[in-house]
Amino acid sequence: MTAFWTEADFDDHEHVQLVRDRKSGLTAIIALHSTHLGPGAGGTRFWHYAEPKDAIRDALRLSRGMSYKNAMAGLPMGGGKAVILADKNRTKTPEMLAAFGDVVNALGGRYVTAEDVGISEADMVAVSKRTDYVSGLPVTGDDAAGGDPGPFTAMGIYHGIKAAVQHKLGKTSVEGVHVAIQGIGSVGGGVARLLARDGAKLTLSDINEDRAKAFARELGGEYAAPEAVMSVSCEVFSPNALGAILDDEGIARLDAPIVAGGANNQLARQGHGQKLADRGILYAPDYVINAGGIISVAMEYLCKQHGEPCDINEVRKRIAQIPGRLEEIWQESASTGVSSDAVADRMAQKLIGRG
Ligand code: NAD
Repeated sequence: MTAFWTEADFDDHEHVQLVRDRKSGLTAIIALHSTHLGPGAGGTRFWHYAEPKDAIRDALRLSRGMSYKNAMAGLPMGGGKAVILADKNRTKTPEMLAAFGDVVNALGGRYVTAEDVGISEADMVAVSKRTDYVSGLPVTGDDAAGGDPGPFTAMGIYHGIKAAVQHKLGKTSVEGVHVAIQGIGSVGGGVARLLARDGAKLTLSDINEDRAKAFARELGGEYAAPEAVMSVSCEVFSPNALGAILDDEGIARLDAPIVAGGANNQLARQGHGQKLADRGILYAPDYVINAGGIISVAMEYLCKQHGEPCDINEVRKRIAQIPGRLEEIWQESASTGVSSDAVADRMAQKLIGRG
């Protein structure tokens, strides 16, 4: 077996833990990339992987992404991520979640978890019965921050798309702007609703065809099949499903001047940011534009640590800073000729003491 530290995606991660609990059937990986700015914060993904090495790759890449994301969002948090390896039937039991909570607890606060793909608010409540190092728990009242991070992530992406449209197309509104959205889940669905409210023209796609069609009917958009959405001729392609979709073939298929969406790790490899730039496509670095959820989750956690209620307006204020950060990146990219993803990486590395 290859050693961890020779894995292509290993980036001096501080801690990588392989978890196997025979009793509950839990198999998981917890990766802490950096705790330079604070506890490693990042959600738990519950997913069926064809090969265990795909799960390791995901944990390594996602946790590094969280270090960069938290740093660029100005949060006093490091980067971590957990991946629970689901079986083919995606069997998830209370015992599994309890065992996972015990493992998080044993890390003594070095890792703080929350929801990600395949993990619901109710799952996090179950995990919170075993550990306090959890965020994204249900909240009561409209003015309390916290709870499901999806709507906050969607809000940040909506602001980011508007900033990209202004930067690239010189338009101050998304009214009539054609946006193709891949993945109509918690994040993509929220982005679709916010854009529809402003009169954007939507093309919606999901492997759950019924869901995408229902959204298209509700919001007055078009439906595109999953294999067709990346080649839709539009102004913004917004990936909100899974990562690594921007590879050589994916980039060649794009027919949009802007890529701006919430999926983590959209670029299959590092050089793909440059390939987008070479095609004249404006790219919003994923971990910068999709920071809304972690801003809410981190604020909820930090307020809880200090025993204070968390003000949703403070969360909204921080999310509204995402466009400014994107603009800074795009301007530096334009003036240096370095692709926007590489500019963001350099900024983030400096912030986590690795510049
Ligand atoms: P979700 O599970 O609610 O939604 C994902 C959707 O994508 C599902 O409806 C699924 O059917 C669909 N999908 C999967 N593969 C697809 C494909 N090939 N083509 C079209 N649709 C496909 O998850 P989510 O919370 O909305 O997260 C979406 C993405 O955003 C993930 O990459 C996640 O890591 C990232 N993200 C989420 C948050 C958050 O707050 N939830 C925060 C930051 C980043």
